[in-house]
Amino acid sequence: MKTEALGATAADKPLDAMRIERRAPGPRDVQIDIAYCGVCHSDLHTVRSEWGGTLYPCVPGHEIVGHVSAVGTEVSGFKVGDSVGVGCLVGSCQHCPACAEGLEQYCENGFVGTYNGPTADAPGHTLGGYSQRIVVDEKFVLRIRHPEAQLAAVAPLLCAGITTYSPLRHWRIGPGSKVGVVGIGGLGHMGIKLAHAMGAHVVAFTTSEGKRQDAHALGADEVVNSRNLEEVKRHHGSFDFILDTVAASHDLDLFTALLRRDGTLCLVGVPEHAHPSPSVAQLIFGRRSIAGSLIGGIAETQEMLDFCAERGIVADIEMIPMQQIDAAYDRMQRSDVKYRFVIDNATLGKGPA
Ligand code: NAP
Ligand code: ZN
Repeated sequence: MKTEALGATAADKPLDAMRIERRAPGPRDVQIDIAYCGVCHSDLHTVRSEWGGTLYPCVPGHEIVGHVSAVGTEVSGFKVGDSVGVGCLVGSCQHCPACAEGLEQYCENGFVGTYNGPTADAPGHTLGGYSQRIVVDEKFVLRIRHPEAQLAAVAPLLCAGITTYSPLRHWRIGPGSKVGVVGIGGLGHMGIKLAHAMGAHVVAFTTSEGKRQDAHALGADEVVNSRNLEEVKRHHGSFDFILDTVAASHDLDLFTALLRRDGTLCLVGVPEHAHPSPSVAQLIFGRRSIAGSLIGGIAETQEMLDFCAERGIVADIEMIPMQQIDAAYDRMQRSDVKYRFVIDNATLGKGPA
């Protein structure tokens, strides 16, 4: 089916309106009319091929929410009209040990990303949520239980929410934990909300002095300007866990020094250029770890959505028409996002980008 979309034809080209083809739903497929799609920094990294390997045309977007508009004959979990979401994954092998544990993001045969992933559909790679509709295997469709009025603000949970929820759960964050969140952007602002909701003492690290008040409102107990070394050093050796969401290369030693014995600095930001090599001494004295974490599996994404629905947690968003996507990317690159752009997909196919 012909579908209006917003995509790029090359790394140095701006996003532009384009028409793509979506497959007719197969027996296990769910067709979703997309209402809103969050704008993740990974979209920008991919569109501009900052990580290399981007396939064009590139239609990004993996924070998708909308309503079911058709289902295949064997679909049992969803019906037309349901509020649903799709995150970063639309496929995986389903039989490797990682998939068997519900960790499809670590599929040993390679997961299929919502965009830039392998598919039999034209043009041979997946196209994401900056589009009017998408067709997805029901195993990768999430149920949304938030009130309908919150749908747009739920969209960022599908990537920013799960990418911060999953490591907080894996490292067993709860009451009594002291948690740092570095970078208050899309991921970071969700990290603050979720760590706070799990009962941790949360310290937000920001390079933007203007986000200080907001960080407290998001749930941070303390806020540190990470460019002010005196302020940073006050927290030396005190953190159980620090979640680093920064989208640019930076000095990791600043944060490993803040970990207590056996503490972990978990990286979720994926900068275009590598971080400077961290100090080994800082890790071995104190048995500290630097770790990484990738989004989350389908079961855990549903758990996170339900956790948020029960507690009324959504993202803080700024809604944009698709015509403003370039301006939004420029602002995202300047850390000027409060705290996630969300595209109103009803604006697709209505005038020039
Ligand atoms: P974002 O909204 O742009 O937020 C990143 C934040 O990092 C900025 O708001 C800023 O916060 C801080 N920052 C930016 N440049 C900085 C610099 N040079 N030095 C220090 N701090 C800086 O991005 P996002 O969508 O949250 O994504 C963050 C990163 O995570 C991206 O690299 C993205 O690709 C990656 N990601 C990873 C996963 C995963 O599974 N691991 C999933 C999604 C996204 P302050 O203004 O507070 O300093
Ligand atoms: Zn993302």
